[in-house]
Parts: sequence; C-alpha cells; structure tokens
Amino acid sequence: MKKRTDGIIIAIDGPSGAGKSTVARLLADRLGYRQIDTGAMYRAAALLIDRAEIDPDDTSALEYFCRQLDIKLEYDDARQTVIANGSDVTNQIRTPEMSLLTSRISSLKPVRNALLKAQRLMGESGGVVLEGRDIGTVVFPDAELKFYLSASPEERGRRRCEELTAKGEPVTLEQTISDVIKRDRQDSERDIAPLCQAEDAIVIDSSRLTVEQVLDKMEQVYREKINSTGMAL
Ligand code: C5P
Repeated sequence: MKKRTDGIIIAIDGPSGAGKSTVARLLADRLGYRQIDTGAMYRAAALLIDRAEIDPDDTSALEYFCRQLDIKLEYDDARQTVIANGSDVTNQIRTPEMSLLTSRISSLKPVRNALLKAQRLMGESGGVVLEGRDIGTVVFPDAELKFYLSASPEERGRRRCEELTAKGEPVTLEQTISDVIKRDRQDSERDIAPLCQAEDAIVIDSSRLTVEQVLDKMEQVYREKINSTGMAL
C-alpha cells in the first residue's frame, strides 16, 4: 500500500441519484480534498467504446481499446470537465441513454480493469473523495472512511428527473424512476464489482435529508476519525 501523503481516502458508494456527486464535490471543498467521480470515467469510456463501434463481445478488441483509454477529470469551482482521449465529452455523457449504456458497458471486465488501475493511481496518495459503486469494496477496500449513500428509488428518480429537465432533456418522472430501478438492478447484479455496501461503510439514507445535513454528518464522522486516530489533516 502506498503511503497516504496527502490525507485519507474517503469512499462514497451508492445507487444512482442518491446525491453522491453533489455531496462528494462539496465534501472535497470543505476538506480541501480532490474529488474523483468514477461514474464520469465509466460514462466517458462507454461513450468512446460506442463511438468506435467496438463489439462488447469481442474481448480482445475491447482489451486493446481499453489499454489506450486516457480519461481525465478537471474541476474548476463547481464545474467538472471530462476529457476522454483528448476531447471534451462533458456534455455528451449525461443523457438518459448514456446512463443506461454505461451501466451495460461497465459490467465488462476489460473496461473495469482499465478504470480500476487508473482510479487507484489517481487516488492512492490520499486527500481524495472518490464516489462510485465499488470504491469501498474493490478500488480502495482499505479506504479510511467509507460511506454508503442511499435514498428511495422514487426520491432518486425525482431528483434525476429535476436535473435532466433543468438541462432541457425531454424526460418524464415515470420513465426516470423506471430507468433508475433498471440501472440499480444492472449495477447490483453484475458479476464483477457489483454495487453493494461495504461491511464497514457508514450508511446514510438521504431521502429526508438536505445536502447540508448529509455533509455535516460526513464531516463530523471525518473529524472524529482524524481525532481518534491522530492522523494528520
Ligand atoms: O455515478 P453515475 O450515475 O455517473 O455512474 C454511471 C454508471 O457507471 C453506473 O450506473 C454504473 O454502471 C457505472 N459505475 C460503475 N462503477 C463505479 C462508478 C460508476 O460501474 N465505480
């Protein structure tokens, strides 16, 4: 294990629409940590694989393609930019179609292997808040702090629908809830690194909590951890 020179590793896992991205960004801001949105990396990979028309069943073509993947996340205030193999794909990866496609593509071994390696490299020195589905279970099972953020499918669908409508996507609440449930099933039932709660994760149900309340809870747990272990901030 590489020494954490920049702080601890905070993992936030959970199903889609639980509010992980917002909370991860704001928690990273509060602590002066870096945010790593692993979902954005899977979305960018899925977009490139789709554009290159790689057959998901052609394992050797997929492995070759994944070895050349270069995905970078840049953060400027509240804005995230995703650069995949040199081009800015930020606006293309957030459509409902891309969400479902990503959920399918992210179950493939060559894709997961490539991104797992990249994520470990990006986070191993610590001082990071990583959010995704398998951070506390697979990417960094030794993360010092693990949260599992959940909310009811109806509430998650409602939030996602609001987000997409604000961006001008023609979606309905019914369809969005059904997409959220479909993605939950695909993400939790896949063979490799399925969405599941790490045994040592702290569970937070955000259904009836504001973002500030979730953040305060996480920050409190973080401070307690740092104080009790004497780790440097
Ligand atoms: O978090 P977000 O909704 O952007 O993630 C998109 C998809 O990427 C998820 O539905 C999931 O299939 C995949 N993903 C994953 N492992 C992660 C993060 C995301 O499989 N660590």
